[in-house]
Amino acid sequence: TFQALVLDKVNDRMNVEIKSLTMDDLPKGEVTIRVAYSSVNYKDGIVAINGSFVNSFPLVPGIDLSGTVIDSTDERYKTGDEVIVTSYQLGTQHFGGFSEVARVPSEWVVPLPKGLSLKEAMILGTAGLTAALSVEKLEMNGLEPNNGPVLVAGATGGVGSISVNILANKGYDVVASTGKSNEADYLKGLGARTVIHRDEIIDNDQRPIREEKWAAAIDPVGGKTLQYILSTLQYGGSVATCGLTGGVEVSTTVVPFISRSINWLGIDSVECPMDQRLKAWNRLGDDLKPTALEKDIVNEISLTELPKVLANILEGKVRGRTIVKL
Ligand code: NAP
Repeated sequence: TFQALVLDKVNDRMNVEIKSLTMDDLPKGEVTIRVAYSSVNYKDGIVAINGSFVNSFPLVPGIDLSGTVIDSTDERYKTGDEVIVTSYQLGTQHFGGFSEVARVPSEWVVPLPKGLSLKEAMILGTAGLTAALSVEKLEMNGLEPNNGPVLVAGATGGVGSISVNILANKGYDVVASTGKSNEADYLKGLGARTVIHRDEIIDNDQRPIREEKWAAAIDPVGGKTLQYILSTLQYGGSVATCGLTGGVEVSTTVVPFISRSINWLGIDSVECPMDQRLKAWNRLGDDLKPTALEKDIVNEISLTELPKVLANILEGKVRGRTIVKL
């Protein structure tokens, strides 16, 4: 038997509990993995607290895992191979990473890239993949360090912290926005040149256009924050939209698009095609590898501490990345 966090719906309420499972409890899949680490993402909070995305209970949540293959019926993977699995239905409609053992379809498996340990891979996790996809898409749309300041919203979060560190290491002038007034030193330590309060970048009066401020932005927040960003991007600038912690509704007009030629770029890590996924992971072990991973960004917990962290992340109380050692 092995230990896992099991999510169940009891009398219409979500219940999480650590349970002993057997191999027979695991779903079908070609690759069985001894999980080394998982991580806690905002989406894990939504799954565990609201039961969103889940189509049948009980479920082992956890949208990220890294570990070692212990059995494989796909010849591409052998016992002892170190791998990463994130995205697709992992931890939403298929048993996920909050478990000492996982079994997954081989199509979901990413070989651990050179340059990353199993632990570093989970300090990155879906948040790191999303940050890398965002930086890459901004650069594909013309972003270079001498274009001007780059804004990162929700900067103390997982996607935010890693984005700040990656961009600063690549020579960008990073402006970090946060709701946590006491975390300026943390963000400067990650490489932000300027730290501002999130209240400064909220559109409260629906102005389509304002003074030009940023060459680009990475935005895990959405809502009125994204409205503000669209109204303040420099001519030809881009925003990578990757999240919704501040809301899903966005009210804008065509004006900044047709008068400033701005780009609104969508980022999806869940169904991201495997060739792009492998490229992003390989870059995360190489030229995009954050320098602050094990230093400032990480907070390590055990399975027993998970329920509390899952509740805290939805309240915006978590800083950086929380990994779970299995
Ligand atoms: P996280 O670690 O919880 O970080 C989210 C950050 O957003 C918080 O730390 C906080 O930063 C800020 N925030 C929280 N509540 C807010 C509010 N009401 N208004 C404004 N800002 C708020 O979450 P994460 O795992 O990095 O994910 C961030 C977002 O990206 C989530 O919406 C997640 O679903 C999404 N996401 C999307 C993809 C994709 O494939 N597109 C992948 C990963 C994540 P400050 O306190 O510093 O302001």
